[in-house]
Amino acid sequence: MTPGGVNSPVRAFRSVGGTPRFIASARGAYLTDADGQTYIDYIGSWGPMILGHDHPAVREAIAGALGSGTSFGAPNAREVELAELVTRLTGAERVRFVSSGTEATMSALRLARGFTGRKYILKFRGNYHGHADGLLVEAGSGLMTNAGELGAAAPSSAGVPEEYAALTLVSEYNDPAALDALMAERGHEIAAVIFEPVVGNAGVLIPTPEFLTALHRVKAAGAVLIADEVMTGFRLSLNGATGLLGLSPDLTCWGKIIGGGLPVGAYGGRAEIMDYVSPQGPVYQAGTLSGNPLAMAAGLATLGALEADPDLYLRLDAYTAALGEGLVNEAQAAGVPLSVNRVGSMLTAFFQDAPHGSVCNYADAARSDTRAFAAWFQTMLARGVYWAPSQFESIFTGAAHTDTELNATLDAARAAFGALP
Ligand code: PLP
Repeated sequence: MTPGGVNSPVRAFRSVGGTPRFIASARGAYLTDADGQTYIDYIGSWGPMILGHDHPAVREAIAGALGSGTSFGAPNAREVELAELVTRLTGAERVRFVSSGTEATMSALRLARGFTGRKYILKFRGNYHGHADGLLVEAGSGLMTNAGELGAAAPSSAGVPEEYAALTLVSEYNDPAALDALMAERGHEIAAVIFEPVVGNAGVLIPTPEFLTALHRVKAAGAVLIADEVMTGFRLSLNGATGLLGLSPDLTCWGKIIGGGLPVGAYGGRAEIMDYVSPQGPVYQAGTLSGNPLAMAAGLATLGALEADPDLYLRLDAYTAALGEGLVNEAQAAGVPLSVNRVGSMLTAFFQDAPHGSVCNYADAARSDTRAFAAWFQTMLARGVYWAPSQFESIFTGAAHTDTELNATLDAARAAFGALP
């Protein structure tokens, strides 16, 4: 009925084997499958569920909005309220809501091209920005997971014409010299440089300060600097990685948390650029369900709850740090090479013998032992821990994870490391 049995590739467990679980319900930090098994959830719907599943404030907000109709196709108060909240939290001067992260990045790039009158964009190997044609070039996430033999040519997708891909230039993440060299040669043709400010889609990769400085230099060549905060936005701080790392992008893309578990994306930033979007300006972008009242209500409730609990980010950081340290200790005790990268509530445990924090680009991540990871994943699942089913994804922790879940996770991890050959 559905290609591969799923509506998004990594859900199919192709790289880890075994049978994907069909989820019947979710509450707090737990998923329950159709057979009644419960799992501690570390994917959080791939990021949105920072408050935990079925959070009362989000449920009530959606229920409250439901009584007034599900979609209007006309302006409504909630989209204005959410725009006010997002602009206040992030410093963006204008914001436009869409229905997914892919739409956000795709629209931001069209806008950058319209604004600059240039046609090339530049992205980084292993970064994933959704599935628009021009972005499926050397991409991470499911394309990296399903790339076959590691070390093979960087993945892309059938169906993307070479002519489209030719407009996307690719550089190495965390390589300021390569970025500077490319900008020196082609900078005058580049409309936008798009990047994940903390990468989640090749596993977690942490940017070096030198790389971030080089990224900001692209503005001098007239390129629009686009931070893709679809994953990191409202997760790493109330102003995402931008707030945490002191970035100043021209435009930012959001998704996931901004919709509180309903389909929302957004892009925003400097008014001078955003005012090129129609009907104000000449760059067309539209959406039947954009600003949907239920989705706006879920986003408002989620961001509102985050703003009301400023210590949450500290608690997430402490939980995830303890999780990372516990994994390293358990792996060491079992003689399994492991290298953990973590920023706040995002973490990847790479199955490889590299000093901690030294996995910093696509090639480094690709050196991981995916067979060992797959075997470890299966034991974790059998013991009730739903880890991300790919070596090349981040896991996400949330407000509902407590010491109970931490201890149970580390018990399962001990058994899973011990079971490896
Ligand atoms: N950008 C980043 C950094 C992402 O992680 C994702 C999805 O995981 C996207 C864009 C695409 O978002 P969506 O899946 O909502 O289209």
